[in-house]
Amino acid sequence: GSRLEGVEMAPPDPILGVSEAFKRDTSGDKLNLGVGAYRTEELQPFVLNVVRKAEERMLAANENKEYLPIEGLAAFRKATVELLLGADSPAIKEGRIACLQSLSGTGSLRIGAAFIAKFMPGAAAYISRPTWGNHKNIFADAGVEWKEYSYFDPETIGLDFGGMVADLQAAPEGSVVVLHGCAHNPTGVDPTPEQWEQIADVCVAKKLLPFFDVAYQGFATGSLDADAFAPRYFAQRGIEFAVAQSYSKNLGLYAERVGAISFVLSDKEAADRVLSQLKRIARAVYSNPPIHGARIVSEVVGSEEMFAEWKGEMEEMSGRIKAVRQVLFDELNKLEPNKDWSFILKQVGMFSFTGLSPAQCDHMTNKWHVYMTKDGRLSLAGLNKAKCKYLADAPSSNSH
Ligand code: PMP
Repeated sequence: GSRLEGVEMAPPDPILGVSEAFKRDTSGDKLNLGVGAYRTEELQPFVLNVVRKAEERMLAANENKEYLPIEGLAAFRKATVELLLGADSPAIKEGRIACLQSLSGTGSLRIGAAFIAKFMPGAAAYISRPTWGNHKNIFADAGVEWKEYSYFDPETIGLDFGGMVADLQAAPEGSVVVLHGCAHNPTGVDPTPEQWEQIADVCVAKKLLPFFDVAYQGFATGSLDADAFAPRYFAQRGIEFAVAQSYSKNLGLYAERVGAISFVLSDKEAADRVLSQLKRIARAVYSNPPIHGARIVSEVVGSEEMFAEWKGEMEEMSGRIKAVRQVLFDELNKLEPNKDWSFILKQVGMFSFTGLSPAQCDHMTNKWHVYMTKDGRLSLAGLNKAKCKYLADAPSSNSH
């Protein structure tokens, strides 16, 4: 027998496992509403036109494949902090940001978590209940204990703001608070600007370190700038924070693994020291980041014309999802007009958080070939107008 006889089979991933099951289903009706990956109205994967253009330019420039520095491509890092905080940000001008290009949102969160484990020993990371399924894995694997703060109120299908603030106030000083920058996954419920102010107040009062997870910049409102409200506001207040950014969704670079971990700090000297340690962590994990996606980002953001075109394509993607929300809402309203379906229209981003129980989700999959995560989350990015009626009809035959 193998010396690894004692290794148990790991369970399938709750999100990516759904895609695996979807592939095995031979039904013509099947819908993959599990993973948050944008599809066209024809339900096909979408490569942005600006990405194709950037790649053509890159090919024509005949660039080499030399290693990048550990901290990544300089033009990419500049574009990435500017996208987050705006090109006129004082933190950027003053060199107060430690930015390391990393492996998309997940890898960036993981490097950030490893930094916390190393330099903030004993600090727990507070994550929203519920949150993206991978947050717990990321912090636990990095050796950071995670705890939850209240976030969602099933009664109002909205934010449990009182519970959230109370839980953050009760957190020990020096804890880390993971905040979704916009388009909260899975609930689609974001704090208002006034609520962000109060969250910032608690972070200051309790010396909490905010750790923004910015995976959907552009998908809440359709505007890259408007969706950066929260981190920009924290920066304006002079609050130090960490932030993981991903280009998987907003530039459709899923498989290229392109993103960054940054610490926005109060002086350049601190930023230099933090970057040196982020580099040390990355060096031992994957040495240096991949170049292709980083070049795409620098090409797109570096050209005024392509940047403008990206903003247009971003609006198109987020607009298509909004249109699908409206049709799904209309279909459900026709079917059950006495029920309040307005949550479908109010939720923002890629997802609809339906409140379906795990058993109902199983039924959606087993009977209707609708693949979704067990928390009742539907990815509307994988739905089109034509399939809304089919989806609306499916759970109605359920015993609620
Ligand atoms: N954070 C959240 C909340 C997400 O939903 C995702 C993507 N599903 C990520 C981070 C990171 O994704 P990626 O590693 O593909 O950038």
